Amino acid sequence: MQQLTSNVFIETQQKGANHGIVATSDGLVLIDTPHKPSDAVRLKAEIERRGKLRYIINTEPHGDHWTGNGFFDVPVVAHAGVRARILGTDMGEHVKRVSSFGPQEAPLLENYRANAPVITFESEMKLHVGNHTFRMIHMPGHTPYQAAVVVEEEGVTFTSDNIFCQVQTWIQEGQPEEWLKSLEALRGLREDTFVPGHGPVCGKSYLQEQGGFLEEWVGYVRGAVGRGMTKQECVANLTALTDRYPMDVEQDGMAPRVMQLNVANLYDYVTGAGIHARS
Ligand SMILES: [Zn+2]
Repeated sequence: MQQLTSNVFIETQQKGANHGIVATSDGLVLIDTPHKPSDAVRLKAEIERRGKLRYIINTEPHGDHWTGNGFFDVPVVAHAGVRARILGTDMGEHVKRVSSFGPQEAPLLENYRANAPVITFESEMKLHVGNHTFRMIHMPGHTPYQAAVVVEEEGVTFTSDNIFCQVQTWIQEGQPEEWLKSLEALRGLREDTFVPGHGPVCGKSYLQEQGGFLEEWVGYVRGAVGRGMTKQECVANLTALTDRYPMDVEQDGMAPRVMQLNVANLYDYVTGAGIHARS
């Protein structure tokens, strides 16, 4: 893992989301967990060398942030919506999908249990471990249940997938208006070292690029809606942003699919349909 500050170690090079370890005076805290079971098993060995794991914090409900929870026997903290999403997951299907990541994964998933969050928050909470303070702040956007995790004594914030640094942005269920507000909330923090959900470490200087790309996405789909294109036509034909950024680690070949998911969601956003339907 890459050492980011005196007590923060991060992994940004594996399939799935970035994750990190914070070494406190009273044990370790893991923020998000690997997507691949084989990576989780290796991380477990590394954690055992470093000390005793106390808690896991999940930053969002997507499986690439929590699948590895199940390989650790500690309480998990997250937004209440993350807990609900994990409990509502068809684990048979989930295990089948994760097994497809490689030949060594399936045997590690026998008797898999998700280890869903047991400590939850709605808007904000603080967790104190040793001399460290972990401040979790609800920041909806990429999903309704995102959280930023501020490690105050280290000057580091884990932003969740509200930031994809220099890799393709997934907007499959994103709410652009809230997302942009959350980027402003990140700008308002004292801390200026961001561990994004995907891609390399960045800082506040990247917020404008991330927000600008979101706005460009919305404008792109809004333009097509304005020209009278149907959702199906949009999904089939809007491909211009496919290669703007490379895909994250081991997501090669998925760019067209991400493009379609993003367009479908943003079509609903622009027209007030689907998850964006206004009552
Ligand atoms: Zn995500």
